[in-house]
Parts: sequence; structure tokens; C-alpha cells
Amino acid sequence: MNAALLPFDAATLVMIADQYGTPCYVYDAETLARNYRAFDDALHGKPHQICYAVKANPSLAILQLFAGFGAGFDIVSMGELQRVLAAGGKASQIVFSGVGKREDEIVFALQQGIGCFNVESEPELYRINRLAADLGLRAPISLRVNPDVDAGTHPYISTGLKENKFGIPHEDALRLYRLAASLPSLETIGIDCHIGSQLTEITPFVDALDRILRLVDALADEGIVLRHLDLGGGLGIRYHEETPPPVVNYVAAIQQKLGQRSLTLLLEPGRALVGNAGILLTRVEYLKPGLEKNFAIVDAAMNDLMRPALYEAWHAIVPVHPRDAVPVVWQVVGPVCETGDFLGHDRQLALAEGDLLAIKSAGAYGMSMSSNYNSRPRAAEVMLRDGEVVPIRQREQIHALWRDERLLPD
Ligand SMILES: *Cc1c(COP(=O)(O)O)cnc(C)c1O
Repeated sequence: MNAALLPFDAATLVMIADQYGTPCYVYDAETLARNYRAFDDALHGKPHQICYAVKANPSLAILQLFAGFGAGFDIVSMGELQRVLAAGGKASQIVFSGVGKREDEIVFALQQGIGCFNVESEPELYRINRLAADLGLRAPISLRVNPDVDAGTHPYISTGLKENKFGIPHEDALRLYRLAASLPSLETIGIDCHIGSQLTEITPFVDALDRILRLVDALADEGIVLRHLDLGGGLGIRYHEETPPPVVNYVAAIQQKLGQRSLTLLLEPGRALVGNAGILLTRVEYLKPGLEKNFAIVDAAMNDLMRPALYEAWHAIVPVHPRDAVPVVWQVVGPVCETGDFLGHDRQLALAEGDLLAIKSAGAYGMSMSSNYNSRPRAAEVMLRDGEVVPIRQREQIHALWRDERLLPD
């Protein structure tokens, strides 16, 4: 047994590679369930809703699993809303985040009976009010407040600082809540924040919550009583040597701050639910040892898994069948024509052409950020469930790459 592959096993991965080809994303249903239960169990007995952040991995089968557990969803576009509905999720359990909601997206969400709009600006309040009035509806809203705390994470995935584009500045929140209360087609039901992603400390969450709760209390004093508080997502996972807090500790710290307030707690975890439930399976195409560096060229690339190229993110790379040979330091790279196209730098591995590799912790922001760069079809996806391999997305077909394109007329 190769413990480094857990929860996957070598024989199954070989079978998957043979049957579905590589690169291929492989997810484990039991890990997805366990990750969801960790949040749900920690909140047992308290009013809560776990809204899976769809952008982490919008695969229909994954959405279907979470919907089956009773999850709600956090979405950022009409496409994500349609996906959730297609997978059996309920509109009433969806919160709609994002700084740039278009009119057609708002109208569609209202028609579907969306649970809440997480409003990110003053003009968005007016826009939702107007569109809801046109439909003869009242739109449930929450204001996404920017608590101005440093999440201590990568600048590209930090969202809760003044200088970020997200949310309403903390200082403007009271004024905008009063405005929302005065707009007849809005129903103010909550408050939310989301301070960043891949956080490995509890303190920034607690600091943000402190600031949000001061607002909640000040609003209550004015007769604006909120039903829910949504602390967003952002809890990190272990990719390398990070030590994120266990979900129970994170939840306990939040509960302690909430005290006796009768607020429903919403959380929007993405990465923490799916990140460690998936791997990207790839095969070594060529070994290209050099004077300065040794390159292992694999058949997955930055278009399949963008995180290393985008954030210099580190993913463990594990041979499916470890070789009994002296390891060498490899640059594990893809075939894409970019120097930034790497999956891992300086990895001590014993490799041969044709070897299968598992790129670990690829369940979040892997497939969802993949592209067709270099006209590469997107990878296949399979899920392991009850000992069976279930295909959940076929490899994109080459002709589909230009299906929507047209040649110029003569
Ligand atoms: C991306 C995002 C999330 C999920 O973040 P994770 O770090 O994956 O948990 C939650 N809420 C909002 C508003 C987001 O933009």
C-alpha cells in the first residue's frame, strides 16, 4: 500500500488512467462527506446553514452530493446558480455573492426565489430594489461588510482589506443598512463578510467577527434586527507544511463570540470541503535531464491546474508506484508554452517515462480554474463512491473546442 496516496489506492488509479486517460481529476465521495460532516456536526444543535462555495469546484456530481447532505450554496454568477439548480440544489438555500451582479442575473435569481443577495455596494442596493419592485417581489439581502482585517494569506486571495474591491467599507455599513431598510422592495435579513482564502489561523476570523458583531448590535439598537450572520469561507487546508485549525476549533471560536445572540450562522466553505478530496492524475511523458535542471514533462499542465502558475502554490506530487531507485531533483512541468507552466519545482523523485503521478489536494480551484489554453481539451473527472469508479465528466472532445466558433464569410 502507498500511504501517500490515501484516500486513493494505486490499483484503482491505474485502472482509472487506463479507462479514462490522463490528465484526470479523481474525487473521493467519502472524503467529501466527511469534510461536510465536520462542519455540520460542529454546528449541531445551533441554527446554521453551510453554503458550499461553488467556485471551488462546480462539478454537478459534487453539487449533487452536497445538496443531498442538506447544504446550501454560495454562488457568484448566474451560471453557478443554474448549475446548482441542475444538480438538485434549492434556490432558497443559495446566497449570491459577487461585486458585479448583472441585471439579468439579479432578475433570474429573484424569479428562482434566491435565499439572499450578498450586496457589495450602494448602487447594487438600488439596482436590486428596482428590479424586485418591477417583479412585484421583495428581495432578501445582506450587506457584505469589509471588516478591514488582514487575513495573512496570499495577496491574490486576500479579500477583507480596505484596499480590496470586495464588500462595503466598515464605516459605511450603518448608513447603507438604514438606506436598505428604507427601500420598499428589499428585506434586510443578514450580514456577511468573506476575508480571504486559505487562512491558517483563527485570529483573523475572530477579529472580523468582532467587528461584524459590533455592527449587528448597533443595528439592533436602531430596530434593524438581522436573522443571519454569514462569516464567509476561507478556512485553509494542508497542502505542504501549513497547520490550519481543525474545523471544530474554528467553529467553537465563532460560537463563543456569537454568545447568546439568536442569529443563524451561515458559513461558505469551499476549499475546506473539496480541496483534499481530489487529486489530478497525470502521466510522465518525457524525462529531460539537463546540466542546470532536470525536467519531468507530464501530460497535465497549467491549463488543467493553474494554482502553481498563478500563486506559486505547492501541491504534493506522489508517484502512484514508487520506484526503488535513487531520487533525483525534478522540475515537474507541463507541455504548455509558458515558463510559468509548472506543477512542482525541485521535487525529489525517482521517475521513469510512463509513470503515473498523483498531484494531491487538487479538489479545490483545480478543475474550476482550468482552461483551454494551447487548445487543450479539459480533463476528465471521476468520483470514487462505495468502491466504484463513477465517471462524472467525460474528457472534453477536440471538436467541442471550436463548436461555438464561425469562419469568416467569403
Ligand atoms: C471564494 C469565496 C468563498 C470560498 O472560499 P474558500 O477559501 O474556498 O473557502 C466563500 N465566499 C465568497 C464570497 C467567496 O468569494
